[in-house]
This record gives sequence, C-alpha cells and structure tokens, in this order.
Amino acid sequence: MLEELLQATESHGARLVAVSKTQSPERVMELYNRGHRIFGENRVQELQPKYEALPKDIEWHLIGHLQTNKVKYIAPFVQMIHSVDSLKLLQEIHKQADKAGRTIPCLFQFHVAQEDSKFGFSPEEGLSMLEEGSWRDCTHAPIHGVMGMASFTDDEEQVRGEFQQLKSLFDTIKTRHFPNDTRFSELSMGMSGDYPIALEEGSTLIRVGSLLFP
Ligand SMILES: *Cc1c(COP(=O)(O)O)cnc(C)c1O
Repeated sequence: MLEELLQATESHGARLVAVSKTQSPERVMELYNRGHRIFGENRVQELQPKYEALPKDIEWHLIGHLQTNKVKYIAPFVQMIHSVDSLKLLQEIHKQADKAGRTIPCLFQFHVAQEDSKFGFSPEEGLSMLEEGSWRDCTHAPIHGVMGMASFTDDEEQVRGEFQQLKSLFDTIKTRHFPNDTRFSELSMGMSGDYPIALEEGSTLIRVGSLLFP
C-alpha cells in the first residue's frame, strides 16, 4: 500500500503524512525501514514518547487538536503543526518555538465539513483573524497553508465540494495575505477514505492512517 500511495501522491506533486496514531513504535519502524520519514500524530501524549523512542530523522507532524498548555512538550522537535485553530494557540507556538531556538511551520485549520464536531476556524472567523493581522508577529510560527477535513460520507460530490471550498480559501488567503511569500504553499487535505479526490482538488499533503496500518 505504501508504494501505491506514494505513487499517487508524488504524481500530484504532493507529500504523504503517514498517520501513526494508536500504532506501536514497531509498526512505525516497518514503514521507516521501507524509507518513509513523514509521520503524523494527533495527540501530544502519544507523539512525545514516540519521538523519544524512534529515530531522530523522522519528520513529526501534529495533526490533531492542540491545547496551548501542551505546546511546550513538542516545540523542541515537531516539524509542522496542521491544526492551529486559534490566534492564542499560534502565539503560544511562536513563544515556545522561540524559546527552543526553532521555527515551526503552521497551518490554519478550517472547518468545511457538514458535521459540527470538528475543530477549526469557520471561513468567516479565519478570514477576519487574518485580516486583523497580529498573527504576523508570530515569526517563529510562520503560516505555511491551510488544513481541513471533509465530511465522513459516501457522497463523493459533497466531499469534492468541501475540498474545493478549502482550496478556494487557500487561494483567497494566498492572494490577500501571502502574495509574495512562497512558504504559504501547503493544502493539507485527504485521508484514507477520500485522498484520491483531495489530490484531484489540489492537496499538497495527504494524511493517511488506516490504509497504511490495516
Ligand atoms: C486519524 C486522522 C487522519 C487519518 O485518518 P485515516 O482515515 O485513518 O486515514 C487524518 N487526519 C487527522 C486529523 C486524523 O485525526
């Protein structure tokens, strides 16, 4: 499955984040030994011990909801945070990254799905926060793009519509706030059930768990 996924991902110029949440370090090592280096976790309590136990050339991405009081535990090593859903969180990431002598690329998570249980900014909320501008002070937590999840449904057209909505938000934000900043380039969308659609709609980072760890 890894090779197949990598082929699909790379043919779209995207990258694969192997979501290893709930998987043992041994299972992570199986993919590591086949050459994979980018892994994603959704909980700090799980990410931190895995970081300690596993090879240090793994690129760890935090993809799940992050509480401000937990940022300090991952700031010394995390390579990207996909799930920034408040200005307060971004400011804390900036502060802890600065303390650790690091810069941590961040993505703003947007809520585009029908289900209301998911985290993230609503489009209106996110756009007005960007307009307000104080995120620009967070130089140790530069914004590299946006992340979102589609509804959990068999309705492909609905999923495609939600990915298109996220892509269009990405384009709007790029034009308004990052016209000359090449770092703003990541569109994190697509999971096991919908990654082919996400790739067709412009994803640059797919986050796949269950397909890779059956
Ligand atoms: C678990 C998770 C994934 C991967 O989901 P699969 O359906 O197992 O591929 C992707 N993104 C986030 C935010 C997750 O929590």
